Amino acid sequence: MSGRDQTGTGAPLLEVRDLVVHHGQLRALSGISLAVYPGEVYALIGANGAGKSTLLRTIAGLHRPTSGTISYDGRDVTGLRPEKRAGAGIVMVPEGRRLFPTLSLEDNLKVGASYARPGPWTIDRVLELFPWMKERRRQRASQMSGGEQQSVAIGRALVANPRLLLLDELSLGLAPVIVQRIYATLPQVLESGITVLLVEQDVSQALRAATHLQCLLEGHTTLQGTPAEVTREQVEAAYFGVTDGNGVSPASHGGTTPLSPPNGIDA
Ligand code: ATP
Repeated sequence: MSGRDQTGTGAPLLEVRDLVVHHGQLRALSGISLAVYPGEVYALIGANGAGKSTLLRTIAGLHRPTSGTISYDGRDVTGLRPEKRAGAGIVMVPEGRRLFPTLSLEDNLKVGASYARPGPWTIDRVLELFPWMKERRRQRASQMSGGEQQSVAIGRALVANPRLLLLDELSLGLAPVIVQRIYATLPQVLESGITVLLVEQDVSQALRAATHLQCLLEGHTTLQGTPAEVTREQVEAAYFGVTDGNGVSPASHGGTTPLSPPNGIDA
């Protein structure tokens, strides 16, 4: 269940304020703010190059922001090294999975367990979550399908016992049926007390899974709200940066328009 504060009393698990990030001369994020509450599935959507991965990686500590702050569990972690953030429970499943291809499935899971915090997730519990893994634990990661590798990458992150799980483009390159199977495991992840911040290019998928979402366009927030608040037209405008034919720019959207379900906008 979402812990989003409706009353003004709850505290976010993650709070990002006015984040600006550059890659060299390129300004990839221009003042992004967000708050993720315990128990939420917060989705970042947007087209290629919008800045979604940059935002997730900056939260994980892999990019240093030019300005702005990142608070986690009430503590400013903006300057904290990535491994310290992982130790505090911010764990990422990176785009492209980044498994060790020559290691077995089980050894890839052990990599995650090697820097684990105490918590409910063990290798055995991951094997319960993805039962097909039991028979395949000695198989090399490189011999697995994309969907299987994605599941191993999720399992590796889970055995580290995150409090905040960052998922970057889970569905990239996978068939819809496989994506649905992977997303079907999310309720069990949430039930174990993990909060999820994910990047998803497939808007329909994001809206099905998310309790809250934010759309980025060229490094700006163009829309945010709950899936129940959004319209297809608002999402399209936010995603592509156009409204009533006038070519609305990302900056002119300002960032806090509420939205409602778009029923299938695919990137
Ligand atoms: P995608 O879905 O294509 O990954 P995205 O929304 O995740 O898109 P980012 O990958 O964050 O977007 O990229 C935002 C901008 O920053 C893009 O213009 C991209 O080319 C640029 N960029 C990202 N990473 C780097 C990097 N390491 N060095 C230079 N430029 C980068």
